[in-house]
Amino acid sequence: MTRKEVVQQCRDLVDLLPGEALAEARKKHPDVGGFGVFPVYAPVEVIHAAGLMPVGLFGAGDKIELSHAESRFQSFICSIAKSTLELFLRDDMKDFEGVVFSSICDVARNLSSLVTRNAPDLYIEYLHMPQNMYSGETLNYARAEFERFRTKLSQRVGRPITDEAICESLVLYNEVRALVRRLYSHRKLHPTSIAAADVYAVVQAGTRMMPEDYAPMLRDLCDEVEATEVKPRDGVRIVLEGAFCEQPPIGLIDVIEAGGCIVQDDDLMIGWRLFDHDVESNGDPLAALSQAYVSSSVYTSVRHDVDKPRADGLVVRMKQSGAEAVLFAPAKFCEPALLDYVLFRQKLEEDDVPHLKIEYEEKMWTFEATRTEIETFAESMLFD
Ligand code: SF4
Repeated sequence: MTRKEVVQQCRDLVDLLPGEALAEARKKHPDVGGFGVFPVYAPVEVIHAAGLMPVGLFGAGDKIELSHAESRFQSFICSIAKSTLELFLRDDMKDFEGVVFSSICDVARNLSSLVTRNAPDLYIEYLHMPQNMYSGETLNYARAEFERFRTKLSQRVGRPITDEAICESLVLYNEVRALVRRLYSHRKLHPTSIAAADVYAVVQAGTRMMPEDYAPMLRDLCDEVEATEVKPRDGVRIVLEGAFCEQPPIGLIDVIEAGGCIVQDDDLMIGWRLFDHDVESNGDPLAALSQAYVSSSVYTSVRHDVDKPRADGLVVRMKQSGAEAVLFAPAKFCEPALLDYVLFRQKLEEDDVPHLKIEYEEKMWTFEATRTEIETFAESMLFD
């Protein structure tokens, strides 16, 4: 496929609701079931090995009206929680076998309980991810949690989920993650070789396709992007930080670039590309996934690692990507992102690194005010 075709197909795909994305996949895989993956991380290989398509559940953007979910929540919570619940209340998830949440924040915990109550026919799982990465029992604990998921999912689909099948899925997802790393690595060196919004759409589309269909497409894209002659342009080289769970409207990413910033790196959909190298695909796959989660994860605000402060991680991300500033883009009312913002900001001010914070929500219709803020920030750096 050509780069243009890949990007268009991905943009079309991320514009669909999760149920519509599943229907799209069923044109090629008629028997495949769907399983929702609420951010940030879940062992998608276990789901794929069960004969299901893991589908990233990033809310519904501006595609649905909230008719019922608002009455189940306080007003001051992130929009992904409300629109995700609305999807279940509207019966949009009826073709799914279930959904997996994990211990990222209180909102996700409450959301999983609400979904359990309102979608009694689905299998709703809540994974308790390890919080202490250095106990002698951490790996055993993480593996036991993944084993619990495998057992219950296997009971749900009525067939075994073997180690061999998970290893085969691991090979596929390793390939996808490696290609995404390749795309990100190239962009760090040649950030104007592909628009940030295109990278965003392409990576998000990977959460809505079978990995065996997605990998070849992504390889075609990487080949063409790498072969493209790059025209440099002026701009402030930034790291985009804080968008690890609820995803920003694609128009916001366009505005960030149009406002004079060049995105060198970001934490968009970080859970789907969490590992900094391949996961071992021979042997015990659940032990390998546990090991990868504990020791090979990149930093993110919802994964605590006492020996690796996230503020240091941000500085490394900046240095490795060649960025000169940070654009914080947390979802409105996202507690993990806003709490970390305090620590990130303190560190950046100590290091004299320019930064700007913009917040977003799903139903963000206009970006004019944000664009003005970004332009002012960029101009203050470019013409200093
Ligand atoms: S956006 Fe933030 S507060 Fe909302 S569910 Fe995600 S991590 Fe939790």
